Amino acid sequence: DDPTGNLHVAILPFMAHGHMIPIIDIAKLFASRRGVKTTIITTRLNAPLVSKQIPTTAEIHIELIRFPAAEAGVPEESETADFFSSTAQKMGPNFLFKFFHAAALLRRPLDAALAKIRPDCLVSDAFFPWSAESAGKFGIPRLVFHGTGYFALCTAVCIRVHKPHKNSDSESFVVPCLPGKIELTPSQLPESARKEEEGNPFTELVREMAESEGKSYGVIVNSFRELEPNYADFYRDELGRRNWAIGPVSLSNRRSEEKAGRGGRGTGESSSDCLKWLESKEPDSVIYICFGSLADFADSQLKEIAAALESWGGSFIWVVRKDPRTESESESEEEWLPVGFEDRTAEKGLIIRGWAPQILILDHEAVGGFVTHCGWNSTLEGITVGKAMVTWPVAAEQFYNEKLVTAVLGIGLPVEAEKWVRGTGDDEVIMAEGIEIAVRRLMDGDEGKEMRRKAKELREMARMAIEEGGSSHSSLSDLIDELKQRSHV
Ligand code: UDP
Repeated sequence: DDPTGNLHVAILPFMAHGHMIPIIDIAKLFASRRGVKTTIITTRLNAPLVSKQIPTTAEIHIELIRFPAAEAGVPEESETADFFSSTAQKMGPNFLFKFFHAAALLRRPLDAALAKIRPDCLVSDAFFPWSAESAGKFGIPRLVFHGTGYFALCTAVCIRVHKPHKNSDSESFVVPCLPGKIELTPSQLPESARKEEEGNPFTELVREMAESEGKSYGVIVNSFRELEPNYADFYRDELGRRNWAIGPVSLSNRRSEEKAGRGGRGTGESSSDCLKWLESKEPDSVIYICFGSLADFADSQLKEIAAALESWGGSFIWVVRKDPRTESESESEEEWLPVGFEDRTAEKGLIIRGWAPQILILDHEAVGGFVTHCGWNSTLEGITVGKAMVTWPVAAEQFYNEKLVTAVLGIGLPVEAEKWVRGTGDDEVIMAEGIEIAVRRLMDGDEGKEMRRKAKELREMARMAIEEGGSSHSSLSDLIDELKQRSHV
């Protein structure tokens, strides 16, 4: 126990941007409460990324542990969130197996850190299932952080338990037990569910993650109750998961964001340049296109997006995973863009190469729509600032989040990949025509207007949830009180 009478919360982030950004926000939320001391446990190369996201005024300690790269046979730099986001995915399953082995070898360094700092509880990413035992060893509760909302958490459990895709020959199926008669096709399931097989290390990891949840104290959910009440109830009452919804956690991160730009690999465009550009645009006139920190489209797909934007003719901010251009490089050297694209769209478009200040851009009133891959952080960030979406999921639980946005909340429409896809394998692209139709429907039609109206209602609910007396604010207070009582702080 802490001699100062504080509750000491230790936080162990997984090193991918989509996991690290929200769990650091959670650390900041804990630290913002009276009588709570917070420590983030991370590796040396990730420490600068962590620090960058923490305002100097926040009392958050960073405890370093060594990443066992050599023992697992992965390069030293693979420990960083930048590496995971930019390179790890492309290195294929063999590398990822080794990487997750290295992650599992973090257990001993974590145990040593816990022995040293003696926290009262551990909040750790779901990708570290073994950390439940580490917490158990020190007699402290472990709280799981998944990085997704209730809808995706519930859908994943229903699919894992009932395996509807295995019993059904037909193309689509209704997710068994899940409220709302949600339809999915087998191809919309994450690979870990589709290719479940004995001995597959990822199948094992998913099984361990599920098992470890049972051994954990509860789950911290980055969502707010009012957003998905049926699924919050289902998660607690039907699936029996003790949990606390304390989001949207990004709302607490605004000010430090403005100061630092966010995590990641250097900002492709400075925040102030983006904002200045947006100032010159009409409300709800700009579409923002970004596919998160991992999704990396082939050049052929980028060309289709460019063609769709040009043919639509409206204003856009488009984030692409390309290195920022040097002075000497001209547009003609960039093969992924149609020749002359930037000249022709100079007035209307802003391309950000690299990392965008997403939250700031999304929050601007000129932005009226968001083309998103439906990573949970992006989805929730969009909801938090009241934006309607074109959903373009790529992998993992993004297809579940798409259903929440389109079928449950009614604040987005799908790009309809199955209708507009051409080619196979590496040559597969979604055609410009399909992208343009979706963008037009969202930005120019009444349908889009109605979606923006609903999205703005959700924005208000999100703001209320995090204010004092709001559901998420109270939920965090309840959790802290409970943890304090448990550890006699
Ligand atoms: N992000 C950003 N700038 C970018 C790309 C991503 O700030 O150029 C942030 C985004 O705001 C979100 C996170 O990175 O917080 C991406 O997480 P998400 O769950 O949406 O997707 P993932 O990257 O995990 O696929």
